[in-house]
Amino acid sequence: MNELYHLFLRTERERNLYERARNLAERFQKRARWHDEHAEFPFENFDDLKEARFLSLTVPKSYGGEEISLYEFLLIQETIAQGDGATALSLGWHLGIIMNLAETKKWPLSVFERICREVVEKQILLNSAHSEEATGSPARGGKPETTAEHRSGRWVISGRKTFTSLAPALDYFIVSATIQETGEVGNFLIPKTAAGLKIEKTWDTLGMRATRSDDVILENVEVEEEALVEMLSLPKAKSHAQGWLLHIPACYLGIAIAARNEAIAFAKTYQPNSLSHPIAEVPEVQRKIAQMDIHLMAARHFMYSIADQWDRYPEKRAQMKEELAAVKYIATNTAVDVVDLAMRIVGGKSLFAENPLQRHYRDVRAGLHNPPADDITVSIVAGRALQ
Ligand SMILES: Cc1cc2nc3c(=O)[nH]c(=O)nc-3n(C[C@H](O)[C@H](O)[C@H](O)COP(=O)(O)OP(=O)(O)OC[C@H]3O[C@@H](n4cnc5c(N)ncnc54)[C@H](O)[C@@H]3O)c2cc1C
Repeated sequence: MNELYHLFLRTERERNLYERARNLAERFQKRARWHDEHAEFPFENFDDLKEARFLSLTVPKSYGGEEISLYEFLLIQETIAQGDGATALSLGWHLGIIMNLAETKKWPLSVFERICREVVEKQILLNSAHSEEATGSPARGGKPETTAEHRSGRWVISGRKTFTSLAPALDYFIVSATIQETGEVGNFLIPKTAAGLKIEKTWDTLGMRATRSDDVILENVEVEEEALVEMLSLPKAKSHAQGWLLHIPACYLGIAIAARNEAIAFAKTYQPNSLSHPIAEVPEVQRKIAQMDIHLMAARHFMYSIADQWDRYPEKRAQMKEELAAVKYIATNTAVDVVDLAMRIVGGKSLFAENPLQRHYRDVRAGLHNPPADDITVSIVAGRALQ
């Protein structure tokens, strides 16, 4: 067993899930450079994920899914991210949303059951389109400028969403909008086929390029009454503890592991003619290797321990918001540090386009801007301490 997993794979089921994810990650790794360079959504990876029935992993067993635990979800995310970070982050939104809905039961049961059955039978994809130019991160509580108007028993929705990951691949968009009549905010489930919904290719970014987190434009999109699936309370920063969001730290730690493995493989084989041995024997290189692993141990043991507690003690979940935010804070900053160390070990060769380290360097930056941002974590952790 890989030394990074011997303590984390505790059961036969976890080992099986890990192996399934690892097989897929090996394929994704070969395609990652192309998708990043072309900023193209990895449709082939999602064909493979669908064939492997990964899109229904978090669907409850009663609807035909595998109902994996949060701990198992993180193992998968971290492993897939070692092959391709953008694929992992995209998959994480979809699987996490289903996991969260199964737990919170916030949608009408009939709608949730219908969507779950579609996910199981057709391996369809869904994601949230919440961010907007004017609100910035929805976690800060800004009110959507996208509007929903009730007209003759139907909803008419207009607005523009930014940062919608998987935009070209989604079957359903979960769009937040302010209801004109009441000023309340709701989530609307909108199929990709809805007239007036279009995608504008705005996602030309430094990192996570293959997530295609494009803009979604809604021009008088008409949907049936039942499309309003959930009412939202603002500000979201004061919302309940959300274990599913740990898919984000798992993804960025997976990218950091890929960088760490790359640097170690390099150190074992690179032998400049000034040395009689590979650079792996140089004390300073060993110090950096140890630093990468110590950082990873601290972040991963913290993340998996919190996930395990989440799974074991549902009654304690409401009190875990600060720990969940701290996991994300530590993991994403650790990922930035580990990739930095990996690049220092490899040196100037890490800068070349053909070297995956430069992609990992760009991808981990994106983690800092996924929710919750560090300033939000600081305020909620300090808030609890000072209560
Ligand atoms: C790779 C990637 C994928 C994403 N996928 C999705 C997705 O699928 N769906 C989706 O809806 N969103 C998605 N997002 C968007 C994400 O959730 C955030 O909305 C987006 O990154 C902007 O957040 P921000 O914190 O940078 O921006 P802002 O909230 O605008 O913050 C920018 C700066 O202003 C400061 N600031 C802003 N408002 C306040 C305030 N009220 N108080 C104090 N400081 C403030 C912040 O501290 C920060 O320094 C994605 C983002 C990334 C990077």
